[in-house]
Amino acid sequence: MKPPGAAVIRAKNDIVKNLFGLSRERIEAELVALGHPAFRGRQIYRWMYARGAADFEAMTDLSRGLRADLSRVFTIALPSIAERHVSRDGTIKYLLELADGRNVETVYIPDGERHTFCLSTQVGCPLKCTFCFSGTIRFERNLEPGEILAQFVLARGDLPVPPARTNVVFMGMGEPLLNTEGVLAALEVLTDDDALAVSPRRITVSTAGVVDQLEAFSAKAPTIGLAISLHATTNERRDQLMPINRKYPIREVIEAARRLPLPRRRRITFEYVLLGGDNDTLEDAHRLASLLEGVKAKVNVIAYNPWPGAPHKRSTPEASSNFIEVLAAAGLTASLRRSRGDDVLAACGQLANKSG
Ligand code: SAH
Repeated sequence: MKPPGAAVIRAKNDIVKNLFGLSRERIEAELVALGHPAFRGRQIYRWMYARGAADFEAMTDLSRGLRADLSRVFTIALPSIAERHVSRDGTIKYLLELADGRNVETVYIPDGERHTFCLSTQVGCPLKCTFCFSGTIRFERNLEPGEILAQFVLARGDLPVPPARTNVVFMGMGEPLLNTEGVLAALEVLTDDDALAVSPRRITVSTAGVVDQLEAFSAKAPTIGLAISLHATTNERRDQLMPINRKYPIREVIEAARRLPLPRRRRITFEYVLLGGDNDTLEDAHRLASLLEGVKAKVNVIAYNPWPGAPHKRSTPEASSNFIEVLAAAGLTASLRRSRGDDVLAACGQLANKSG
């Protein structure tokens, strides 16, 4: 026989379950398994996500007895904010500490009436694009749905006044489509009106072009905006910059994008970071325009954000504006994304759990 003490500890570890991150159905099922009606699960779901209850005691329409029972078997646990870096432009970068001690970064970007939250999907990134700081740290693991949602909840909750309307971009650390399951589960709660209620039209998932996952992802989340990181117009160059191109070359990525059934008026964004002398020539701009011919596309040209030890340099202002002019002349909608938060290493491609 085992000593009773050990059995108690094991039983306790087994049953205290974190509800944060679970779907409505899962929470209902947990309650039903304990002999409660499903609607109790629904109440808890709303309290937790829509009203931000941090513990069961706050759920005042549940009886005192039920609240005490719930606290014995469940918990509502989010990562903690370990560091906060405020840029001179108002951008805030958060370093979060996860339950296992690992770290991940989240960025809040204010822009007048626009409030954008940039979420990470993995700890580190396995893709190793040469221009991206996140690729320089070790890839550890996928984030759980609750760890993705908590980034939004914590960053939004940190603002003095919670913004009425928010945009969410999955453009932080990691490759969302290598964590498709986690991202889809997070999106379900993020967009549910009974939970975090973010409009799907205000959410963009950015991918380096994991062709195998694109179709299934867009079938399951057809109203979510998609952005594809292209960054080169020949396989030779893209192979060098983004090793994933050896698996999914340019034309396959673009063909997959072309095949996606898009809601009316919806376009796919193609991201193109301008790397001085590497991918920013007029020939590149012309090739990009012809690659995207017939695709419901817009192009987001991104100024390169350098980081300590980065192997690339920015394009000159002249090269940048010439590049955009060629795209516009070819009938493409092209916009230049400004750098935000680069003084605290919070801009695109600068997330590596370091603050400079
Ligand atoms: N893995 C996903 C999402 C993360 S990055 C993807 O590849 O799309 C979000 C965008 O920032 C991508 O387009 C990425 O290529 C770009 N980016 C990476 N490093 C950058 C840098 N140093 N400067 C500017 N943009 C960068």
